[in-house]
Amino acid sequence: MFILLTLMFSFLQGSINNVPNSEAEAPEVTDWPEGSSAYDYLVTMTQFGYRKIDTTANENSRNWIAAQLESYGYQVERQSFTTDECANCQNIVVTINGTLDDEWIVVGAHHDAICYSPPPLIGFTYPTCTSSGAYDDATGSGALLELARTFSQWNITPEHTWKLAWWDYEEWQGSASSEGGGKGSLHFVEQQIPENIDVTYLNLDMFALNWPVETPTAMQLAGCDEDYWTLYMFTSPVDDWSYYEERGLEVTEQMEANAVVLQSQLKEINHNLSHPTEWVSVVDDTKGNSDHYNFIMNGHSATWLRGQHQYIIEEGDTCEQTPKHAQSDSVTTLNTMAGGRTNVESGLQTGLDVIATMALWDRNITADSSDEVVIAQASQGVNLAIAIIAILIVTTIFCMVNYRQGKEVLPDNEI
Ligand SMILES: [Zn+2]
Repeated sequence: MFILLTLMFSFLQGSINNVPNSEAEAPEVTDWPEGSSAYDYLVTMTQFGYRKIDTTANENSRNWIAAQLESYGYQVERQSFTTDECANCQNIVVTINGTLDDEWIVVGAHHDAICYSPPPLIGFTYPTCTSSGAYDDATGSGALLELARTFSQWNITPEHTWKLAWWDYEEWQGSASSEGGGKGSLHFVEQQIPENIDVTYLNLDMFALNWPVETPTAMQLAGCDEDYWTLYMFTSPVDDWSYYEERGLEVTEQMEANAVVLQSQLKEINHNLSHPTEWVSVVDDTKGNSDHYNFIMNGHSATWLRGQHQYIIEEGDTCEQTPKHAQSDSVTTLNTMAGGRTNVESGLQTGLDVIATMALWDRNITADSSDEVVIAQASQGVNLAIAIIAILIVTTIFCMVNYRQGKEVLPDNEI
C-alpha cells in the first residue's frame, strides 16, 4: 500500500508540475479579429479625405485612431516629430506590457497617404491629385485597429512587450521632395527604442488583395495565369541580404539567426492556419520599400505582410496592378478588384489570423490571470480529477485482489 501510495503521489506531482508548461494546451480566447470589422475601420480612415502629411485630414485621422484606442482602454502615446518636409508629424503608439520588457514585438501600419503620377513618370504631384489611400495604407491601419480592439478583449499577458504603432510620413512626397519617406518608423527606431532592446517588427502595408481573393476574370483574360493573389511575407533575409548590405548594413550572426527564427515561426503559423504555401508565402525581402526597412537597417528582424502590389511595368506581370499612390486608390477600386466587399474582408482575415496567432502563441501562461486561463485550468482540473479517480479505482482493485489473494495464500503459508 505504501509503495502504491508513493507511486500515486509522485505521478500526481509530475502531472501537476507539467500543467503550466504543457505546449500542447491550446490557449483559449473569447474574441478573434474579424475581417469585416477591419474593413469598417479602413472605410472610416478613407472618409477623412487625403491624409497627406501636414494636413488637417492627416491630423483628424490620427486623432480618430487615438480616440478609438482610448475607447478600448489603451493609454495612447503620441510621438511627434518634424523633418524638412513635415512640421506636424505624429506616430500613434500603444503598449501591451509583457513579462519581458527588453524584448518587443512591434506591429505597425502607416496612417498617411500620397498621390502622384504613376509610371513611367513616377512622382509628379499636381494640385488635383488626391487619394483616399484605401489600399495604401487604410488596409493596414484598419487591420491594426481591429487587432488592438481584439487584444484589449483578451486581457492576457504576453511574454514579449507588444507595441502597436500607426506611423506618419511613410510615403515619399514625390520628385519635388527634399527627402525620402519612412520618416515615422525611422523616428521610432532611432528615438523610441532604448539600447539593448531586441525588436521583432511586423509591418502591415497594403494587404487584403491577397489569398483567398481570386484574380479577376478580366485579368486572367489579359494573360494573368495565377488563380489567386499572393500574400507575401517579405521577411529579414535568410539567404539574400544584398539589398541591405548595399545600403550599409553589416549583417551579424545574431541578425542571421533571428531571421531564421522569424521565417520559421511565420511558416509554422501559416502551416497551423492551413494557409497554402503557394499563395501565402514567406520569402527573403530583397527590396525593403516600406517601414520594415528601418527596423532591418537598425539590426532588428522584421517582416512585411503585403498583398497584390507591384506595377505591371516593374514586374512584367499581368497579375500585379496596384492602385497605390494613385487617385484611384479608393474603397470602390478595392471592392472591384477583389470582386466584392466580402472578398476584401477575407483577404484582410488572412493577415489578421497570422498576427493574432503570433500574439496567442506569445502568451505567457504562468503570468496570466485572465478568465480564459481559468477556463483552461478548469478543464485541466477536470482531467486531473479523472486521473486521480482512475488511480484510486485501480489502486483499490489492486489492493482488494491482493488482500483476497493474501487471505487465500496465508493459510497455506501457515501450513
Ligand atoms: Zn504604404
